[in-house]
Amino acid sequence: MFKKRLITQQQIPGLVGTTVFCLLGTLLFLLHMRSLSLEYTSADWLLLGSMLAASLVLYMYTFQVPPDGSKQSMDSVVYLACIFTYGSAASLVMLLVSAVIFAFIERKLAWWKHLLNFSIYSIMISGAGGMFHLMGGRLGYLQNVHLPAYVGALVAYFILNLICISLYYCLMYRNRDNLYALLKGLLRESMLVYLCILILSLVLTIMVVHNGVTGLGLFLGISLLLSHLFRMQFGMYQQVQERANTDQRTGLYNHTYFEQILDVQLQQARNTGKPLSLAMVDIDDFKKYNDHFGHLKGDRLLGLMGQILKEESETAGISASRYGGEEFSLLMPGYDTQQALEFINRLRKRINDTPYEGVEIFPHGCLSFSAGISGYKPDIHDKSLLVDQADQALYGAKKQGKNTVQIFGESQPVQDEQDIAQDVKNIEQLLSLFLYKDIDTFKHSKRVFRYAMDMSKVLGLDPVSRKQFVLGALIHDIGKLEIPRDIIRKQGKLSPSEWETVKKHVVWGKEIALIQEQFKALVPYIELHHERYDGKGYPHGYQREEIPLLCRMLTVIDSFDAMTSERPYQNTKSVEDAIRELRACAGTQFDPDLTELFIRYIEARQKGKALPAADVNLLYAGSPTTS
Ligand code: GH3
Ligand code: MG
Ligand code: MG
Repeated sequence: MFKKRLITQQQIPGLVGTTVFCLLGTLLFLLHMRSLSLEYTSADWLLLGSMLAASLVLYMYTFQVPPDGSKQSMDSVVYLACIFTYGSAASLVMLLVSAVIFAFIERKLAWWKHLLNFSIYSIMISGAGGMFHLMGGRLGYLQNVHLPAYVGALVAYFILNLICISLYYCLMYRNRDNLYALLKGLLRESMLVYLCILILSLVLTIMVVHNGVTGLGLFLGISLLLSHLFRMQFGMYQQVQERANTDQRTGLYNHTYFEQILDVQLQQARNTGKPLSLAMVDIDDFKKYNDHFGHLKGDRLLGLMGQILKEESETAGISASRYGGEEFSLLMPGYDTQQALEFINRLRKRINDTPYEGVEIFPHGCLSFSAGISGYKPDIHDKSLLVDQADQALYGAKKQGKNTVQIFGESQPVQDEQDIAQDVKNIEQLLSLFLYKDIDTFKHSKRVFRYAMDMSKVLGLDPVSRKQFVLGALIHDIGKLEIPRDIIRKQGKLSPSEWETVKKHVVWGKEIALIQEQFKALVPYIELHHERYDGKGYPHGYQREEIPLLCRMLTVIDSFDAMTSERPYQNTKSVEDAIRELRACAGTQFDPDLTELFIRYIEARQKGKALPAADVNLLYAGSPTTS
């Protein structure tokens, strides 16, 4: 059944594993040959010969099954039926002859692969035959009382198959960590097929015993018809699937499929550490074109964009999708942001140089698009973050005058600097709701904001990160608006259920921030400022670099302010005590490097000295990400 998969592998095998399989398979075969009896009638010989031919035909006419089109051959049915009627020795001889014939037909395949294939089948047949015998099975007529023996034989065949195939793959690819996952996957994939094989092998046993070659012929006829039907059905499935994943207007993948592959690619980037970039592409001034020439012509222009994107991306290993409207997403596995920038700029040049009817109405006098690129980093937990970042970069590209490409976090427009004051005002307005409910949180947020302003200088943040960091610091506790007054103002110790309610402020805050587009980038600060370096925080239990660097920084600031701020009925720590406490919790609750940096800043401030500067290499490689 798994012959097809084995023989298509081109890699050099794990020598030891292959040798062990071959030795074991051959040994079992030889042991069985001692008990081989050739005292058959001519009718038996004819039937055995026909069964051999049937196994060869069934090996070639496979059953192709969705979703990945794996080809399942049904030759195992014949081997099992032969075990049940003539015994495992006869079945093994049949296997040997069929292996020799295949070695002759597929001469190009390495000899050891033929031998390995034969050996694995030999192990399976020997195991199934042994189990059948052990459980009291009798050769010949199918006897109801011996049904458990038939099932036992099949279970043995199935388990040996699973073990052999999984071990083979693990040794072949030295992927031992994944043995369990591989077994689970194979089990799920082949369970149903093996159930079919069990039933079919029993049916074949009945037909062969009662009607000899005619019974076998009938069975073969049905199998061939079914194999043909399966192939047709799989073809149709492929067509339908392709249509379901494709955007009809542009011929690119659609949004739903994009979400699926984004998940898969993110997982792969996480597992392999290989780079992954995402580009969001938006046609410039498309509305103008639509308004001028009508929607039909606009549609045609979208079709042209799709065609060019498809041509360029397919040869570059990139998945291009229509994200929506006149916006496209390009998922670029193996590309870091610089390589992605080069690719997108080449694409932009090609689009600019494509002559098209009516392009003179565009401000640049040609077709053009703007694009934003974001790169995967280990602290990107959610696929929507990658899209958001590319979107923000796209927004920056539009602001720079369109027909340009920007990488998230790099050379954003100066405009962002000016926007900060307006955003601070907006957030302060939200925070003013605390004035009547919880003035301490209001004051705390403002102090944390000021610490964050200083620390953004200490860290030497770029303008975009700085803006998000300080705004994130200002808004981080916004979810506390949702905590009932009696809990938030309670003076004594909180009960466990009240404590659980307080903890929800990170999730409630996230929901509040998601309402407004401009606060989306601040979500990580709100959601993750109670995560701990050792992974014992909430709401996710992320640890170390899984928590974005600036969120780890915010946690230190937040805690320091909570320790040192004055509140009625609560102890306030002196700065020295708070520093001692921070140090005591560095490495468990807090990032040790960031804690030390913050302490240096506090001490410098106490002494009226200049702010310290972060050792960039110590803290992070490259620009920090905030979301
Ligand atoms: P900008 O450069 O800022 O992106 O400006 P724009 O005009 O391209 O963007 P805007 O978002 O203002 O307008 C997008 C337009 O795209 C509006 C909408 O009618 C048009 N559009 C979206 N989907 C389709 C479609 O399937 N066919 C056609 N013809 N037009 C579409
Ligand atoms: Mg547009
Ligand atoms: Mg748009």
